[in-house]
Amino acid sequence: MNCLFCAIINGDIPSTKVYEDEKCYAFLDIAPQAPVHCLVVPKEHIASANEISEDNSSVVAHIFTVIPKIAESLGLSGGYRIVSNVGDDGCQSVKHLHFHILGGEKLSDKMA
Ligand code: AMP
Repeated sequence: MNCLFCAIINGDIPSTKVYEDEKCYAFLDIAPQAPVHCLVVPKEHIASANEISEDNSSVVAHIFTVIPKIAESLGLSGGYRIVSNVGDDGCQSVKHLHFHILGGEKLSDKMA
């Protein structure tokens, strides 16, 4: 499978690692849209949030237990936003489930 984020997880494409464990990997976004912009991805290839099922949802639950630790390590004590784009209308450009963590300033109250 030709997947950019699988290649990053495997170390075939370089990234700036923020966090890693047996189930997920977090790294800085290459084109940040906030002062802090990190991506968290499951190591298992799941195409998007639309493909989350009873069979694979435990990794998503795990990621959401890890996000507060990542946020703390990034200094996001004032809060942050978690975003997951889905499909063409959601402007998902990489078809591997990922959660954007955005923060480091007061974000816009508009989400779309
Ligand atoms: P999305 O548009 O929601 O699918 O998000 C994909 C994100 O991946 C975008 O914010 C990109 O800037 C980011 N991105 C693309 N290539 C890389 C890369 N090589 N390293 C880090 N982030 C990347």
